[in-house]
Amino acid sequence: MLGTLHYRMPTVLSFLHFLGFMTPDDIARKLEEFHGHLGPFAAVGWRMGQAARTALGAGKLRARVFAGPAPPISCIVDGVQVSTSCTLGKGNIWVINAKKPEAEFTSESGAVWVALRNEVADHIAQTMSRATERSLAMEILNMPEERLLEVKRQ
Ligand SMILES: [Zn+2]
Repeated sequence: MLGTLHYRMPTVLSFLHFLGFMTPDDIARKLEEFHGHLGPFAAVGWRMGQAARTALGAGKLRARVFAGPAPPISCIVDGVQVSTSCTLGKGNIWVINAKKPEAEFTSESGAVWVALRNEVADHIAQTMSRATERSLAMEILNMPEERLLEVKRQ
């Protein structure tokens, strides 16, 4: 029984990869490659974009990200670019200065508003340092969406 599972797991995983499924480790690698380091706010941005994808489907998105103007909060913008393909180069992302991180996404099928929950923002503020940024990012990539984000379909 265990032997059978042992042989089947890699097949199941590569099939999921084929379907475009990414594990939190895959996402972390992608974010680090694009953003230059792995921190909690890049992870939050990735999750915001992913929530929009889930709500609005596979069509083209436009993003307004309220997370400027300075790091670490503006790192959200890079996470959003990676998960949505809304990029500065394509001109379909706008960055707006704000104290509380939020984002609004629109597509042909509608609009969705996404905000980082206060409890998680406080948790990041209280624990973030050079030494913890990586583990905080992984925690955010693994967190259930309803604990991490407020999502409202508009
Ligand atoms: Zn960063």
